[in-house]
Amino acid sequence: TGAISITGVSKSYGRHKALDDVSLELDPGSVTVIVGPSGSGKSTLLRTLNHLERVDTGFIQIDGDYIGYQRRGDKLYELKEKAILRQRINVGYVFQNFNLFPHLTVLENLIEAPVAHRQLSKRDAVTRAGELLDIVGLRHKADAWPRHLSGGQQQRIAIARALMLNPRVMLFDEPTSALDPELVGEVLDVIKKLARSGTTLVIVTHEIGFAREVADNVVFMVDGRIVEQGSATQVLNNP
Ligand code: ADP
Ligand code: ADP
Repeated sequence: TGAISITGVSKSYGRHKALDDVSLELDPGSVTVIVGPSGSGKSTLLRTLNHLERVDTGFIQIDGDYIGYQRRGDKLYELKEKAILRQRINVGYVFQNFNLFPHLTVLENLIEAPVAHRQLSKRDAVTRAGELLDIVGLRHKADAWPRHLSGGQQQRIAIARALMLNPRVMLFDEPTSALDPELVGEVLDVIKKLARSGTTLVIVTHEIGFAREVADNVVFMVDGRIVEQGSATQVLNNP
C-alpha cells in the first residue's frame, strides 16, 4: 500500500455531502496538490486525514495504519482519544491562519506540545527546534513573540512546529492564502525544500505555478468528488 490510502470516504454535514465516495492512493514521498472551487470538500478531506474530522463511511490508512481504527483479526475497532493522539504524531498539519500560540515565544511554540506530551525531553526538543528554525531561516527569531513576526514568518514557524516529531506525512490547508502576495514565495520555498526531503505532502492551494513545479499528482475536486486526477500537466493544462 501507499503512504496514504483513502477508500470510499464519505462525510456529510446534515444533508450536505462534503465528501462523496472519495478514493485516492498516494505514494510514499509523493507531493499531491488538491485544487477545486471553494466548498468542494478539499479542507474536509485534509481534516479527515488527521482525524480532525470523522468520516461517515470508508477508510483511511497512513503507512498501513487505519486512521482512528485498529485492526484485530479481521475486525476494526475505534481508537480512544489517546491512541488517536499517538497516531497523529506521524502527520503534521499546517493551517491557513498559522494557529501559533500568541502567549508563547517562537521557541516555546515549537517545544510546547512535544514536551507536554512527553514525546521529547526538553533538551532534545530545544535541539530539534534549533535545527528546524535553521531550515526555515528563522533561528534569530527564537525568542520573538508571534505578533511581532510577519505572516510569512509566522507560517514558516508553524511549518517548523509541525515538523518537530519528524512526521512522515505533512498536510497543508491553503498555507499561503492568508498572506500578502510578497510573502507567499518564502513559504512556498520552505514547502519546496520539504518536497525534496522525502516527506509525503498533501497541499490544498490555489498557487497553480507552484503546483506545476512540485506536484507529482494533482487532484481536482468538485462537489465532494474527485473529478480529475493526474500529473500537473494533465490536470492543469488549461492556461
Ligand atoms: P473547501 O475546502 O473545498 O472550500 P470544505 O471542505 O471547507 O471545502 O467544505 C465542503 C462543504 O462542507 C462546504 O459546503 C462547507 O460549507 C461544508 N462544511 C465544511 N465544514 C463544515 C462544518 N463543520 N459544518 C457544516 N458544514 C461544513
Ligand atoms: P476552509 O475552506 O479554509 O476550511 P471554511 O470557511 O470553509 O474555510 O471553513 C472554516 C471553518 O468553518 C472550518 O472549521 C469548517 O469546518 C467550518 N465550516 C465551514 N462551512 C461551514 C458550515 N456551513 N457550517 C458550519 N461550519 C462550517
